[in-house]
Amino acid sequence: MKQSKMLIPTLREMPSDAQVISHALMVRAGYVRQVSAGIYAYLPLANRTIEKLKVIMRQEFDKIGAVEMLAPALLTADLWRESGRYETYGEDLYKLKNREKSDFILGPTHEETLTTLVRDAVKSYKQLPLNLYQIQSKYRDEKRPRNGLLRTREFIMKDGYSFHQSYEDLDLTYEDYRQAYEAIFKRAGLEFKGIIGDGGAMGGKDSQEFMAITPERTDLNRWLSLDKSIPSIDDIPEHILNDIKNELSSWMISGEDTIVYSSESGYAANLEMASNAYKPSRKVISHEDLLEVETPDCQSIDEVSQFLNIDSHQVIKTLVFIADDQPIVALLVGNDHVNDVKLKNYLGADFLEVASEETAFQIMGAHFGSLGPVNLPENVRIIADRNVEDLANAVAGANKDGYHLKGVNPDRDFKAEYVDIREVKEGEMSPDGQGVLQFARGIEVGHIFKLGTRYSDSMGANILDENGRSVPIIMGCYGVGVSRILSAVIEQHARLFVTKTAKGDYRYSWGINFPKELAPFDVHLITVNSKDENAQDLTEKVEADLMAKGYEVLTDDRNERVGSKFSDSDLIGLPIRVTVGKKASEGIVEVKIKASGDSIEVNAENLIETLEILTAK
Ligand code: ATP
Ligand code: MG
Repeated sequence: MKQSKMLIPTLREMPSDAQVISHALMVRAGYVRQVSAGIYAYLPLANRTIEKLKVIMRQEFDKIGAVEMLAPALLTADLWRESGRYETYGEDLYKLKNREKSDFILGPTHEETLTTLVRDAVKSYKQLPLNLYQIQSKYRDEKRPRNGLLRTREFIMKDGYSFHQSYEDLDLTYEDYRQAYEAIFKRAGLEFKGIIGDGGAMGGKDSQEFMAITPERTDLNRWLSLDKSIPSIDDIPEHILNDIKNELSSWMISGEDTIVYSSESGYAANLEMASNAYKPSRKVISHEDLLEVETPDCQSIDEVSQFLNIDSHQVIKTLVFIADDQPIVALLVGNDHVNDVKLKNYLGADFLEVASEETAFQIMGAHFGSLGPVNLPENVRIIADRNVEDLANAVAGANKDGYHLKGVNPDRDFKAEYVDIREVKEGEMSPDGQGVLQFARGIEVGHIFKLGTRYSDSMGANILDENGRSVPIIMGCYGVGVSRILSAVIEQHARLFVTKTAKGDYRYSWGINFPKELAPFDVHLITVNSKDENAQDLTEKVEADLMAKGYEVLTDDRNERVGSKFSDSDLIGLPIRVTVGKKASEGIVEVKIKASGDSIEVNAENLIETLEILTAK
């Protein structure tokens, strides 16, 4: 394909509004353009990559018997009223009206649609299991769309839904998807981890998230791609290397999720779900009487513990939440942080938010800084982290501004439900007792989830079983962030290309080193002098030869300076570059393999064999 006929609007400079490297490079290399906030056009290069990803997915899903279909994106609100999500989904839901003033939405996800379709078509257990998927644009009015394709308001998702008679059967399909996802992300060239994800109220084993790991900025070997003229990083003068390090660290690490994993075992979870090893350790000591003490100007846990001269682990932190309109008090030890996903899941709540100071005052009778669990109104449910149960003679707010209580003892002075609601910290012991917890940053690219009967119950999707009894269909759902993957891949495959000029000056510039399977083309064919007839002829011959062998070729036929052709080529990042240069009249071309940095001159007659050898490595 001729570059002059493609819309590839490369930029000389990095776009000033980009904070993560994938966003900057995607725009600069002419892959995408933002049309309005969080809404992107996939230009020809991005579109080709996305189409390749779709092919990979279709191949892997064919293997597990998943069947492709396409539902509408424009949905009647009634569908979502049935499941209850029209009211609970929140402000991310795009709501609109048709000319008859009926309510519609733009689908942010399709559980309701698929459940209805299957409900209406399937009556007997004999018609199950069914395993359907689609690849489609989804709409979410994200509050803060950001970082290129990582968080957009319109994005491409692969969403799959499976329908079963039994949980055992769901387990089999869930496992099939897990393996298919692993195969897809591997083929896409992603470094990823499958981790325990937020499965809503259903707990850990029923949900897995697939996280593309965001590389640390400090690993120079990973980020730098050295030209052959530079033998190793050690040859780069220190002041240049410092500039390079500054350039690297000027880009934000993109992963929004924190992955918690064990240094020794296979344990890995989203921070939202992670726990640490816990052994109850209630001390047997005599319980002191409650004593109210004045704690003027003490707001934080540290201020209270310093003022009373006690360890911060002896202070109970009291937080007030509203969960589906009900007041909830959450208790933690000292400076531990609450993990609100764990809390929300434990409560099985649709909505959970921290109460405003005013609301907290109405419920507790005191302002922030003096809240505590003792003598609360009957209707307030107390959820305490399990570590709180181990405290004795602790300190907590007295629910009276400027006062705390000493000698607070769980069970005697308040009744709570003890569960794991704290956020784990790096270095704590893994919950399986093997190794310590380590943190990494990641981008969620996929999510598989056992839904159970959440939608079949609310939408009446039942079948008749072997005994003629009506039973709800059991469901699973499986998502891949297709457009987000384009960003994640570039995030992992961006490189700083370092070269040394003939005069000995060092240069470095950003580009992409696209993995083979997702690159928009296989070969970038560049003619140094498009006006030279020999070069023209040779370019056409090489292009025809390559295409005859099934290579996808982007031919830079533009009348541009050679320097800008090469810098565009670095930016676009195709795996192979073939240059028709000075030796065109002798029939010789230069071949460069991006991944290995190998570069050689060959007679055009031998190009195909040479490529086969070089890329077989
Ligand atoms: P996140 O926590 O990132 O908001 P989510 O839990 O809302 O993701 P799902 O509803 O599970 O996401 O959607 C399936 C997949 O779609 C996600 O794994 C992710 O890869 C992708 N995705 C979700 N929201 C967006 C978005 N705003 N822009 C791009 N991709 C998205
Ligand atoms: Mg989301």
